[in-house]
Amino acid sequence: MEDWQEGEIIENIKWTSNLASLKIKANIMPHQAGQFTRIGLMINDELVTRSYSYASSPQDELLEIIYINIPNGVLSPKLHQMKKGDKIQVMKQAIGYFTLDEVPDGENLWMLATGTALGVFLSLLKTPLPWKRFEQIVLVHGVRYQNELIYQDLIEELKKQYPNQLIYIRSVTREKAVNSFNYRIPRGIELKEFQNYANIEINGSSQFMLCGNPEMIKETSAALSSFGLKKNRRASPGNITVERYWT
Ligand code: NAP
Repeated sequence: MEDWQEGEIIENIKWTSNLASLKIKANIMPHQAGQFTRIGLMINDELVTRSYSYASSPQDELLEIIYINIPNGVLSPKLHQMKKGDKIQVMKQAIGYFTLDEVPDGENLWMLATGTALGVFLSLLKTPLPWKRFEQIVLVHGVRYQNELIYQDLIEELKKQYPNQLIYIRSVTREKAVNSFNYRIPRGIELKEFQNYANIEINGSSQFMLCGNPEMIKETSAALSSFGLKKNRRASPGNITVERYWT
């Protein structure tokens, strides 16, 4: 168990019947915003673990992850039952490269998330670095239903803190919602609806970070290539940095 640290549940926030966030107190090693961890529970004498991005930033006192309860799943129904004071295993060392130092400079930074992938961007936005490096930041959150537009209070706070820098775009695909688009993310970009709303043209000075549904990542990368943008790789820097969330 040397890679694991016991943590304590501080809060289990239920946003919808199956969408929730866990706040955990645990002493882990220093990490960077944008990284992910594994959390686990002993189930039938076996440590069952899953990967989750941190929605908390490294300077936050508590660790925070967003999860979906899959009722016939193995770990998530157990997470869903957890209460303040319960114990959970957290990987001591966070991992992953979806960090800002992997993203080249640019004028504007687009953060595109579906579902629970919003969390990784909140982690990044709670740190000072993106605001220092980019003139404008466009956070796009695509969800199925309106009640999955979570962390509205935090996003409002960020908008107040960075009124001239943050543009927040909501897109709800399976119902009509107020102050929201009704497009899947690649469609909103192809139609230039998101660019018009943000009043930002997509060009070589735009940087994109994509996290969430793998099909969204594939289709959005294709849409962005029609604006002349290419994948960002260490060996050949580009404009599209992706995190494969689940396979
Ligand atoms: P999701 O299914 O990826 O949906 C999030 C957003 O991504 C929706 O707006 C969806 O649009 C869009 N999307 C789906 N495919 C796309 C594509 N090819 N290109 C662009 N956009 C695309 O994410 P989720 O609702 O967070 O669910 C994630 C997983 O957890 C799914 O396997 C789901 O069955 C499971 N789950 C979710 C919930 C929940 O409360 N959300 C509960 C239990 C289980 P569309 O609406 O048009 O598909």
